[in-house]
This record gives sequence, C-alpha cells and structure tokens, in this order.
Amino acid sequence: MKKIIIAVDGYSSCGKSTMAKDLAKEIGYVYIDTGAMYRTVTLYCIQNGLFQGNEIDVSRLEKEMDKIDISLRFNPLTGRPDAYLKGVNVEKEIRSMEVANKVSLVSTLGFVRKALVAKQQKMGKAKGIVMDGRDIGTVVFPEAELKIFVTASPEIRAMRRVKELDTKGESASFEEVLENVKTRDQIDTTRKESPLRQADDAVVLDNSYLTIEEQKQWLLEQYHKVISKLDYES
Ligand code: C5P
Repeated sequence: MKKIIIAVDGYSSCGKSTMAKDLAKEIGYVYIDTGAMYRTVTLYCIQNGLFQGNEIDVSRLEKEMDKIDISLRFNPLTGRPDAYLKGVNVEKEIRSMEVANKVSLVSTLGFVRKALVAKQQKMGKAKGIVMDGRDIGTVVFPEAELKIFVTASPEIRAMRRVKELDTKGESASFEEVLENVKTRDQIDTTRKESPLRQADDAVVLDNSYLTIEEQKQWLLEQYHKVISKLDYES
C-alpha cells in the first residue's frame, strides 16, 4: 500500500500527540513528536545557563545549536518516542512546567526552527510517518497527503493537561496551566517565523467533546479516504 505523510498540527495540549501516536500504531507508521524537539532545545538552554529569567542568550544558542545532540528513540513500553539529549533520556524533564513556560520563546527563533525543520524533513523522507507539531502541514511537509488541524477550547485543553501532569506526579493548578496554554497559543500564532496556522488544505478537527476512541475512528476514516483516492488514481 502507498505510504504517505500525515501532518497533525494544532494548538497546545489538544491531544495531538495521543491521536498521532494511536494512528501511527494502527497503520504501522512512525510517529514523530516535533514539540519534543523544541522542548529538548529549551531544556538544553535551561541546563546550560542560557536563560536569565525569560531572556535567552540568543547569540550563544546560535553558536551552540549545531552541537545540541537531540534524538527521538522509540519506547516500546509507551508506544511513543522518548526524547534524548546527548544520549540521556530527558522525556520527563521536557514535560515540566518550567520547560512549557519557556519553549514558545525558543520556538520563535529562526535558526532553531531551520535546524529542527531540516532534521524533521530528513526523518520523513521515506514517508510512512505521522508527524505532529505547529508547522508540519505548512512548512515542514507542505506536500503532505493528509493534513489535520486540531483544536479544542483553552479550558478543556488546560483541564486535560492538569490531569496528564497529575498522572506524572507533577502538580499544577488549573489557573497556572490555563495561563500557559493561552500564552503559548498567543506566541505560537503571532510569531514571525512559521506561525501556527491552518493549512488551506487541512481537515479541521475540534475534539472538545470527542472521546479518544471517537477521535481515533475519525482519524482512521480520514486516512482511509486519502489512501482509497490515491489507490484509485494510480
Ligand atoms: O507540541 P508541544 O506542546 O509539545 O510543543 C511545545 C512547543 O513547541 C509549542 O508551544 C510551540 O511553541 C513549539 N513547537 C513549534 N513547532 C512545532 C512543534 C512545537 O513551534 N512543529
């Protein structure tokens, strides 16, 4: 069967990664979480003293960017990739509120985006991938055969995120998380470099009131539609 590229873009904490991971597993594709890559660069900046409050030492980061050794390695226990920084598993660290509060700033930097986009394009060269992020259908793979744009209300997203953090043993208040979700939306949609926006040919999914199972079925339908069309045309 023909392999395609599936781009899943959308707002923070929309459950993009859960749906992308589930779909990839179901159809035997590789799942790539690009948010984890931006989070890992942010963790590097925190660990190496590149932040003074919310100010980044941009010129130092630019010099060091090429040396930041980021990789994603499949974890069979969770069925999704874990992020590694210099060979060390940093999956837990990159999901912290500290990283969440700083990552959108790091993501505005053109040279960071350029380096990570190049890596992502390499990862998807052979197709057969589900990649989630903010600019996958618009910048990384504008030619992707299936583009999904996911959205849900900020309150529902914040509630889901609080629960997720709770299961990981990190407590955060609803208000704090809601603030973070709204700030990230604001920075992600208004930044100069590759702002978050729906690609013209994306299919929109508002999953505010959908269960994980319902969303999985919806996504599978979209995939089968594209595949049947491609099979018909070839
Ligand atoms: O998807 P996740 O919430 O983990 O992404 C963290 C942050 O990384 C986003 O808020 C956004 O600022 C940035 N990001 C991005 N482009 C991507 C993926 C994530 O700018 N392709």
